[in-house]
Amino acid sequence: MSAESDGQVGFIAEQLINDLLEAGKTAGKSRGLEIVAKARECNGLELDELAVLLQATDPEVTSAMYEAALYVKNTIYGKRMVFFAPLYVSNVCANNCLYCGFRKDNKELVRRVLTPDEIRREIEILLEEGHKRVLLVAGEHPTLSGIDYIEQAIETIYDTRVGSASIRRINVNCAPLTVDEFKRLKATGIGTYQCFQETYHLGTYQKMHPSGPKKDYLYRLHAPDRAMQAGIDDIGVGALFGLTDYRFDVMGVLSHAQYLDGKFGVGPHTISVPRLEPALNAPAANTPPNAVYDDDMRRVVSCLRLAVPYTGIILTTRERPEFRTELIALGVSQVSAGSRTSPGGYYDAKAHAPEAEQFSIGDERSLSEVLCSLCKENYVPSFCTACYRSGRTGEAFMGLAKHGEIHKMCAPNALLSLKEYLVDYALEETRLEGERVIADSLSDLPEALRKKTAQLLARIEEGERDVYI
Ligand code: SAM
Ligand code: SF4
Repeated sequence: MSAESDGQVGFIAEQLINDLLEAGKTAGKSRGLEIVAKARECNGLELDELAVLLQATDPEVTSAMYEAALYVKNTIYGKRMVFFAPLYVSNVCANNCLYCGFRKDNKELVRRVLTPDEIRREIEILLEEGHKRVLLVAGEHPTLSGIDYIEQAIETIYDTRVGSASIRRINVNCAPLTVDEFKRLKATGIGTYQCFQETYHLGTYQKMHPSGPKKDYLYRLHAPDRAMQAGIDDIGVGALFGLTDYRFDVMGVLSHAQYLDGKFGVGPHTISVPRLEPALNAPAANTPPNAVYDDDMRRVVSCLRLAVPYTGIILTTRERPEFRTELIALGVSQVSAGSRTSPGGYYDAKAHAPEAEQFSIGDERSLSEVLCSLCKENYVPSFCTACYRSGRTGEAFMGLAKHGEIHKMCAPNALLSLKEYLVDYALEETRLEGERVIADSLSDLPEALRKKTAQLLARIEEGERDVYI
């Protein structure tokens, strides 16, 4: 792999990123506005353009940027907002990431690896709340939390039922695997495999990961390559904002997206934007080396929305409620709700305590509360899992998305999945808000699609479930 001395680490051109950021500082207002105008065409941005928007200080440019991010989001995703819940299955870890409560040297953390029965209990709670999509999260441990364990955990999750309800899509955030292990992961029927580089800045990465398998920057950087080689074509990337200058890492994320697109013909399916949260005995989390303020987060989300318009942006409960609403308007397309960040945290109150959590949560609201508040803002909460179960993944998905075809499926499918939630789980206030959102959104559909969707909605009223196009 390339030497770091020439400023190139894998596909990350560190020197080039620094040079572009330096040059971007001096770009004037008219250049900023020109780039924003280009971004409104929904064709993304190049690294030099992103470098300008990441540093634009002129208020006219920043407000045009936020407005364009909202425009791009509405054009591509409409008002849909996909919901999921994380499921932490283990917190044993062989690594020592200085920012994470699960790090090996945190002797105060209560370590747990959930048994199949415990996983079932957790999933039953999520199903009773109405969740259909789960993100499995695990610490990195070669034997206790390796591929054998993860395979079994996924099988247990898919097999769990509450009445006829089941989890329909499992995404996975676990340590990088080998190609053969990724093949086994693919065979379990997962949706997206997520792996955050944490920071694309080599020097910072090395400082933050002093020991354990995660020390190897390039092995992690190429985890999505191996997953794709194994046939997993929905990949989630991301950076943990707060470790290094956030501008560098946003440039790293775009470099990663461009690299995957160039090599595999499809970029990442999602980008996550976690910001460092306090965690037990995690020095880098409790005093972030490069604190990222709210205004910086607005820029991170809006710049990514403009730079990679067809990639979903995921926002978790790390952020507090009012700020989540703000960031959603700048480009987020998936949110978690009602989350616990400790294994067993859904059924066991003791597990949901600082001694067991990965990091502390900013939005403690239940799924029902978050969903109701988004309906009030006229979003369409969605639990849809249709694409992945109909084989519309990777290039097939992106092809449809880029030609605007995906709208014809996503818009009705979001309404169908919301309807199911309203009939089966919603409290009265949420039901009324949700029905209003469905009626408004139906009227926006072209006539033939509106008729078809109305018929499918009626079938849900009559008791049919898991209805999608
Ligand atoms: N152990 C696997 C790994 O590191 O890739 C997967 C699970 S790890 C718990 C998932 C993610 O949590 C990490 O990639 C990191 O970005 C994030 N994370 C760790 N500590 C955090 C903190 N203090 N605040 C916010 N996010 C954090
Ligand atoms: Fe382990 Fe992942 Fe936490 Fe690092 S971030 S200590 S690898 S769980």
